[in-house]
Amino acid sequence: MADFTEEQLAQLKNAQQKRYLELQEEVRRELGHSSDPQYVIGSASDIPDDVDTALVDRQIIEMRELEMSMKYLQELEFGDCIDCDNEIGFDRLLAYPSAQRCILCQEKYEKAYPHETPSL
Ligand SMILES: [Zn+2]
Repeated sequence: MADFTEEQLAQLKNAQQKRYLELQEEVRRELGHSSDPQYVIGSASDIPDDVDTALVDRQIIEMRELEMSMKYLQELEFGDCIDCDNEIGFDRLLAYPSAQRCILCQEKYEKAYPHETPSL
């Protein structure tokens, strides 16, 4: 776990929750235009994989990453790059609460999987 102060952790937690709620709202709005307006989202894992809007897909991927980040934060394994184990960095996490990788690994990952990752 990267070396954050209590205050930094609280800030990051806030940023994660805020971003998650934003995404939830955006997805809800998108799905509201779809053929199934009854569909209500509890958490990202409830969203079927066959929702076919690219925008919603991207938001759902980010929500899943956020759920992971929030879980990491609770488990105190938070802030380390999942690829190289270096610290992701407080500023980057605050700006991109769903970040799982340091900036270098993220760039590599986006080159390898250009269509599967939100633009962080
Ligand atoms: Zn890395």
